[in-house]
Amino acid sequence: MNPSFSLCVYCGSRPGAEPRFIEVARQVGRWIGEHGGQLVYGGGNNGTMGALADAALAAGARVVGVIPQSMVQREWAKRDCTELHVVDNMHQRKSMMAERADAFLALPGGIGTFEEFFEVWTWRVLDFHRKPVGLLDLDGYYQGLLQFLQHSVRRGFMNDWQIDMLTVGSDPDALLAKLAQAADPRPADVSRI
Ligand code: AMP
Repeated sequence: MNPSFSLCVYCGSRPGAEPRFIEVARQVGRWIGEHGGQLVYGGGNNGTMGALADAALAAGARVVGVIPQSMVQREWAKRDCTELHVVDNMHQRKSMMAERADAFLALPGGIGTFEEFFEVWTWRVLDFHRKPVGLLDLDGYYQGLLQFLQHSVRRGFMNDWQIDMLTVGSDPDALLAKLAQAADPRPADVSRI
């Protein structure tokens, strides 16, 4: 059966300092499976990434992992993904993840999560795709970032409409429902990127 939507999730290769980060990653994975969706993610077994993928698989989701060869060992590539793609480099990883997704969601994470989130958001701003880009501000994790973005608007380097292109929420299920509803299955125009 074809999945009802394909959600690309960016999150931590580390578990975070509180058990809640792992719990919510599992909640997101479960939600995708229970709603007949597909998870696209970085293909690792560590941190919140591994917890997310395990929960999605256990809930019956298709799970597509995309990992560069150089990171197969470092991130413990998840061999039991429905599809595991071992690619040559980070750029291939990110474009394949974008091509296979109808919507994007960043959970709390670190530098890799930030990079992926900003990239897919800037691609949205540049109209390379029209897929929703979500940010889970779990327990205020992203408050500092959101305040900084407003600061950038005030200082004249960004516009409100760019921030308005994000779907920000603190409740995982409500945010997932919004993203699944707005999911756009048309391919991203990665040839222009
Ligand atoms: P982190 O949020 O730093 O724990 O990393 C989460 C994921 O982002 C991991 O799978 C990293 O391999 C990945 N990552 C880190 N840097 C990049 C990058 N420049 N491009 C794509 N993925 C990255």
